[in-house]
Amino acid sequence: MSTPRPAARHAERLHAAISGEVLAPGQTGYDQARQAWNLAVDQRPAIVVVAESADDVARAVQYAGPHGLRIAAQGTGHDAGALEPLDDAMLLRTSRMRGVRIDPAAGTARAEAGALWQDVTVPAAEHGLAALAGTSPTVGVAGYTLGGGLGWLARRYGLAANSVIAAEIVTPDGRCVRADADSEPDLLWAVRGGGGSVGVLTALEMRLYPVGELYAGDLFFPIQRAPEVLDAWRAWTDAVPDEVTSIGRIMRFPALPDVPEPMRGRAFAMVEAAYLGDAGAGAELTEPLRRLGPELDTFATIPAPALGQLHMDPPDPVPNEGDGALLTGFPPAAIDALNAVAGPDADTQLTSVEVRHLGGELARPAPGEAGQPTVEASHLMWAVSATPSPEVAAAVRRDARAVKAALADWHASYDYYNAVEVQAPASAVLPAASFKRLQKIKGRYDPDQMIISSHPVRPGRVAA
Ligand SMILES: Cc1cc2nc3c(=O)[nH]c(=O)nc-3n(C[C@H](O)[C@H](O)[C@H](O)COP(=O)(O)OP(=O)(O)OC[C@H]3O[C@@H](n4cnc5c(N)ncnc54)[C@H](O)[C@@H]3O)c2cc1C
Repeated sequence: MSTPRPAARHAERLHAAISGEVLAPGQTGYDQARQAWNLAVDQRPAIVVVAESADDVARAVQYAGPHGLRIAAQGTGHDAGALEPLDDAMLLRTSRMRGVRIDPAAGTARAEAGALWQDVTVPAAEHGLAALAGTSPTVGVAGYTLGGGLGWLARRYGLAANSVIAAEIVTPDGRCVRADADSEPDLLWAVRGGGGSVGVLTALEMRLYPVGELYAGDLFFPIQRAPEVLDAWRAWTDAVPDEVTSIGRIMRFPALPDVPEPMRGRAFAMVEAAYLGDAGAGAELTEPLRRLGPELDTFATIPAPALGQLHMDPPDPVPNEGDGALLTGFPPAAIDALNAVAGPDADTQLTSVEVRHLGGELARPAPGEAGQPTVEASHLMWAVSATPSPEVAAAVRRDARAVKAALADWHASYDYYNAVEVQAPASAVLPAASFKRLQKIKGRYDPDQMIISSHPVRPGRVAA
């Protein structure tokens, strides 16, 4: 296959300017470089830049503008399903920029934009510190944090985005800037939950928390007990302290060799929980759930980085689809509605339908300004599945839509940014006031819409 000439020319010129790789369609390495973690997404950018450093990012951005290339920044590609087609764009991969520095005295971490959560949680734990990582250790720090970041410590310490204290960003006009409490307040606001539409992030600084060990685990019940288990879990969450973050879940494990034997090919109702406290108090707290008689109980005291295994997210790239909705409540009628479309008798292709308990610190306005200052909902529903074929993908999309529709009476006014893994505008995944401010910031920093992000925003008018 011959290389299209403009792309090859871009590759040649850019290659001379940066230390990372530049690949055009048809060149060896292009297919590997364009591959997203979500294997269902076949992104075919005009050119791929694999940056080694913030300088590379700046030079790539400086090149893109004058040459009419739009830019999509990507670390892992976990959220590639939410992006618009990249045919005329530069895919700017930060996957080689994984440097992490922990400052134990300050209780902070600085992570380069390509770092995965495991790159932060493991070295932080050596100092008795924990980061606000999500359920998967291989999700990227950048994309997760830009979209809010709901993890196992969320009810105690809030969204990961609201623990960001500084960000290093290359703006669409090619400047390297630092956004912190004293400079570029709009950019810092956007990074704290407003998504990645106003520049290319090269590093983030965040607060860490003094968490060494937790009492955490999963309870497995046969799926036939889903109505009773979800009901009991929801009632239990009414009284738990902020130190408990938990999930009620319906899970259908595929009959694949890498699924542990007790779960392989079986379906369960589950409760997963993490408690910031010792095993004695944790066992007492979880006793009402244990009294239901789970078939399997994995609760134990674990080090903070081991939280990355609790939710059993796929460690390696898979084709997948998912969608979610913030809920203003999860009363018995909502539980019935969920069971009708995902419970024991439902005909569904969804591997996992979960409901996360929110509230606690998530409901209190974060100190400092932020794109997602609070989460205006009590629960988050999230439905996902692997999609080994286009037929399964279509069925999964249909079934995720059905779960969302079944819970329509309890939908909040917007969806959770990170849980909407399909194309949707920023207006659908941010509070209305945040969306308006983001439009203005986009108008100021990226009036020509150079940056392509998941959940795009059109620039608003900037006051003269
Ligand atoms: C298995 C799995 C588990 C998950 N668990 C959780 C969870 O527990 N909690 C939660 O909140 N979310 C969770 N998510 C959702 C996840 O946080 C989002 O998909 C997130 O966008 C992934 O970030 P990434 O950097 O890995 O992905 P990418 O696809 O690389 O990035 C996602 C988007 O972020 C933006 N972006 C990334 N890097 C940059 C950059 N350098 N500069 C500017 N913009 C950038 C871009 O818009 C990009 O499209 C999970 C997703 C999966 C697949």
